[in-house]
Amino acid sequence: MNQQIINKLCIIGVGLIGGSLARALKKAGAVGDIVGAGRDVAHLEKAKALGVIDHFETDISLAVKDCDMVVVAVPLGAMQSVFEQIAPVITNDMIITDVGSAKGSVVKAAQAAFKDIPATLVPGHPIAGTEKSGVEASFPELYENRRIIITPLETSSTTAISKVKSMWQACGADVIETTIEHHDEVLAATSHLPHMLAFSLVDTLAKMDAKNEIFDFAAGGFRDFTRIASSDPDMWRDICLANGDALVEMIKKFSDDLQKLSNAIEKNDSTYLKETFERAKKARDEFCDSKNINDSLE
Ligand code: NAP
Repeated sequence: MNQQIINKLCIIGVGLIGGSLARALKKAGAVGDIVGAGRDVAHLEKAKALGVIDHFETDISLAVKDCDMVVVAVPLGAMQSVFEQIAPVITNDMIITDVGSAKGSVVKAAQAAFKDIPATLVPGHPIAGTEKSGVEASFPELYENRRIIITPLETSSTTAISKVKSMWQACGADVIETTIEHHDEVLAATSHLPHMLAFSLVDTLAKMDAKNEIFDFAAGGFRDFTRIASSDPDMWRDICLANGDALVEMIKKFSDDLQKLSNAIEKNDSTYLKETFERAKKARDEFCDSKNINDSLE
């Protein structure tokens, strides 16, 4: 059991990500009191009944009162409005972080809301999640052995950075630091593009006349590849809007390569096809080895 590192925590947005953080910190004994905030009383009552939070408030400016840590875990499109509500009441010893899947847009939202970004703000992003949403889907082990990327700003104080790191480490996570730009480029490639491919593939098939037959014939490979197309559409709309430049760049790169593959098939270019598949297989095998993944067992 960890020592208590947060006295009073406010989680704004007690869904999958915020709820799992609350559960993990409670399980680790790393937090005293947890207040949840959100728009919908029924969701917050559910979170309290599940033991995820101790109290709740729908007025965000009241929810953060006396908190030494505030975690903003709302959809990207709601970040600015939440920052605007806490701006008038933040104090010098209130650490603020977020969990948004894109970071440039969160910093823009903070600039617009706070004018002078507080030294206690340290943006963050847990590289963990599922295709489910809401507090019912939250669980305390979500962050165990997972990476949390924090993107401290020039203005972020060392005290704030170290407290945000300790919070995630108490959940069993491995915390790494990078810049906002690097985060957004890398996530466009490794997370945002794959989600676009899954959504787009399922949508293309669903629009075909023979869709029922196609889905009937689909097997494990289709299921593996398309699991993430069950993710929350609102969240993914927000991520596309928030990280549009980096994502469009990746979609262009991928479309060029897909076109080359299509040309090679048309021209019966077996060398191109085999070389592409060999390169991809080698890269994926190395990735799985480095992460100890054996997905034939899953
Ligand atoms: P979620 O399960 O839908 O939870 C979002 C929560 O935010 C809900 O509890 C919702 O509660 C609250 N909320 C929505 N709009 C709000 C507003 N305007 N003011 C106050 N509260 C609001 O979503 P999630 O998956 O936890 O995602 C939350 C954040 O984590 C997003 O920024 C996402 O980019 C990031 N993230 C998600 C994943 C993932 O795999 N899901 C992974 C890493 C990071 P009410 O409806 O009651 O207001």
